[in-house]
Amino acid sequence: MRARRLTLAVAVMAVAVAAATGRGSAQTAGVTAFDGARVIVGDGSAPIENATVVVANGRITGVGPAGKVQVPAGATRVNVAGKTIMPAIIDTHVHLSTTRDALIKDLRDRAYFGISAAMSLGLDPAGEPFAVRAAPPAGAARYFLAGRGITMPEQGRTDVPYWVTTDAQARKAVQEQAALKVDFIKIWVDDRDGKYQKMPPPIYTAVIDEAHKAKLRVAAHIYNLSDAKGLLTAGIDAFAHGIRDVDADDEVIGLIKARRNVVLIPNMPDRGVVADYAWLKGSLADGEVAKIQAAATDRPQAHAAWQIQARNLKKMSDAGMTITVGTDGNTAWAPHVEMADMVASGMTPMQVLVAATKNGAEFLRMTDTGTIAAGKTADLLVLDANPLDDIANTRRISAVYLKGAAVDRAATRPSR
Ligand SMILES: [Zn+2]
Repeated sequence: MRARRLTLAVAVMAVAVAAATGRGSAQTAGVTAFDGARVIVGDGSAPIENATVVVANGRITGVGPAGKVQVPAGATRVNVAGKTIMPAIIDTHVHLSTTRDALIKDLRDRAYFGISAAMSLGLDPAGEPFAVRAAPPAGAARYFLAGRGITMPEQGRTDVPYWVTTDAQARKAVQEQAALKVDFIKIWVDDRDGKYQKMPPPIYTAVIDEAHKAKLRVAAHIYNLSDAKGLLTAGIDAFAHGIRDVDADDEVIGLIKARRNVVLIPNMPDRGVVADYAWLKGSLADGEVAKIQAAATDRPQAHAAWQIQARNLKKMSDAGMTITVGTDGNTAWAPHVEMADMVASGMTPMQVLVAATKNGAEFLRMTDTGTIAAGKTADLLVLDANPLDDIANTRRISAVYLKGAAVDRAATRPSR
């Protein structure tokens, strides 16, 4: 009680001193108002033209058309006329480094590219990844992980995941990961072109049951339409990939419509067409950009495989499925390509931006971020051009703010 009264007295004195010296009260110190940008809220609502966004103590305290938002006297004004502000992007399927320094660099690289959070899906052993999650580094994307995923034995592939052959082993694996407080349980249901035995329904049903008992959700790596159906029937929570073998049929669309809370991370493959990667110049080392550019050739077979997934993504989006953005692997800038691929599949730029922001935040259960609204954390992307006109404009980053603090992009440039 005594300490609290003392704190209050000090605070009152600070305001009095600030008022006397005319240097702005203690309350408005650290308040920033962004003036004049177009704001894409992230929830699918129409953009706000010539908006004002007020940020205080890392949080958005007001957003709306200029003149309709109260800006506290003494706030720092940032003129962003002509620019577009959107929520930072969320990547719900990655595989990040598993040693401390490399993992922190991965998360900082993501911040540089405007990615505010990433979930590593199933190749993360106990130890350093969990330690980084417990003590999040500053100026970095938030980190979520599924620990060790669960698969059937896959000789020659990574043995970080549990290799299980019975439902008892599968349940034990879930319990061990639940004890580590993973954010998700990951399973692989894929015979890898006939090389391995695919996880059968009794085992994945046991995983899903055990995970749900522990209040955890399960994301499945799939390839085939038939497995998508089996998993939907067994109560799966998310697909870490789309259906890749054939076009989705009416039966699977029916199953999806019956379970609209199931989330699809489309995770589009390489589109297999010529693409311009000049936008990465300056961000990555020249040699790296040259390699990426050289690989971006027309490959009809890859493009045909991409088209199957593109048609399936469009069908599932039209069916009302909840869709997020995920890129697989460990490429910090990949969401910018993924979002363009999703638009090329037939989703609208607005649908894709919602997938990348609000849907991603809800999927990762971050209630404080994902949209630009009063009360939300100020995880913002300031763009030089409007991504609703051309989704590739998400690459034209002017500034990134995480928790209200500008990411020092010059100092954290991945090519440095
Ligand atoms: Zn993956």
